[in-house]
Amino acid sequence: MIVAKFGGTSVADAAAVARLIGIIRARVADRPVVVVSALAKVTDGLLRLAQLAEDGAGDSVEAGLSTLLQRHEQMARALPGAEAALEAIASDLADLGQQLRGIRGRAAKPAELDAIACRGELWSSRLVAAALAGDGLKGTWVDIRSIMITDGRFTRAMPIVPLLNQRARDCLAPMTEAGQIPVTQGFIGATADGVVTTLGRGGSDFTAALLGAALSARRVEIWTDVDGLMTADPRLVQSARTLKFASYEEAAELATFGAKILHPATALPLVQAGIPIVILNSCRPEGKGTTIEPEAAVERVGDSPIRSISWKRGITVVNIRAPRMLGTYGFLRALFEVFERHETVVDVLASGEVSISLTIEDRSRLEPLVRDLSELGEVWIEDHRAIVAVVGIGLRNTPGLAGRVFNAVWPANVEVISQGSSSINMTFVVREEDAPDVVRRLHREFFGSD
Ligand code: ADP
Ligand code: ASP
Ligand code: MG
Repeated sequence: MIVAKFGGTSVADAAAVARLIGIIRARVADRPVVVVSALAKVTDGLLRLAQLAEDGAGDSVEAGLSTLLQRHEQMARALPGAEAALEAIASDLADLGQQLRGIRGRAAKPAELDAIACRGELWSSRLVAAALAGDGLKGTWVDIRSIMITDGRFTRAMPIVPLLNQRARDCLAPMTEAGQIPVTQGFIGATADGVVTTLGRGGSDFTAALLGAALSARRVEIWTDVDGLMTADPRLVQSARTLKFASYEEAAELATFGAKILHPATALPLVQAGIPIVILNSCRPEGKGTTIEPEAAVERVGDSPIRSISWKRGITVVNIRAPRMLGTYGFLRALFEVFERHETVVDVLASGEVSISLTIEDRSRLEPLVRDLSELGEVWIEDHRAIVAVVGIGLRNTPGLAGRVFNAVWPANVEVISQGSSSINMTFVVREEDAPDVVRRLHREFFGSD
């Protein structure tokens, strides 16, 4: 069997779902499990409604709810058989309305945010399952909340793999063996007690990978709106080129440092079993896409020593100067304990003799974090930064590469430089406003055009 995941733009409207049906029809013999995201922009819309409810903007909430209902209704009417999904969608929307009214004027709890954000996937999967069935395929809606068991860290829940493996095998394998096509939700899950959770934004890719690993899939297909993993974000660099192959490691590094095409954790569940991920364009299903696999052929893009450039905005640099750091053991442990205590993830780290710089994305615990770090040394913060990552197998063994990178980056100021121990990435920090140009200049330097 295979897992085929369709992102938001690949289910954005009736035409997109019609393409999805064509893609699945061509794969029936592969016994697909279909994972879908919410329709494009719906998750953003739902979270905006939560914000409006918090602000007490009741009228705007009601207007937003009816826009959502109309959009799903319109789609259902345009797809033969999909109207069968409307009753469930409308009743769920009414339930959401009640929930939002209950939040009016106060901050929503993370658990409530997940109960709001999860709806988009529930609706899109109902539409897709009904549309597949309407087209004569055996699409069957499956509620992933009884399979994707997670911990209770709302808005960024972690799956409990042994549990979900068992449940996926018990529920989905017999269905595919019987010729059914399960259609289920990406991104969402539930605690063992049945409380809905989400895996974090962009998490549908991760869902697909987890199911692929659980079911020993032959491959996990990620259907999206570009031809594959590219040498840079094509929205920023027009001439970006598609990579035919990539290693899990490269894909994970690119995703971690901002390549939105894949959720950073996607490769993780698949590495051990060596299950390939294939990224494909749902508007051009005949394309070959990018295959991510263990024995990825190290294809050179032109004569470039690098393979891709990614970047991530909204980064804060935390600097700590501690003269006593030199020659003391236990300093780093104490430092990381502070980050652990405040559940703040560090992306990039660079250390000098008496100072250390770390980058974080999540500023929600910044104040207590800085307060506790101040006990270890002098702390100062720089915000509105971006991480730029240059990725490619064997970077460290390429003489003169750092010089080329920093020449290309000039005159932007480079602030924190780090080369991953895996030797496949080189990352640094620049001011956010400089980042797009820096990426374009790097692309021109290494791939000949921008
Ligand atoms: P989906 O809704 O299908 O999950 P996303 O919007 O999450 O799609 O991811 C696809 C987008 O990722 C592309 O439209 C592209 O702009 C962006 N992207 C960023 N970096 C890259 C890259 N290196 N290669 C390809 N796409 C990239
Ligand atoms: N719909 C969710 C989001 O927008 C999950 C996903 O698309 O992967 O973040
Ligand atoms: Mg995505």
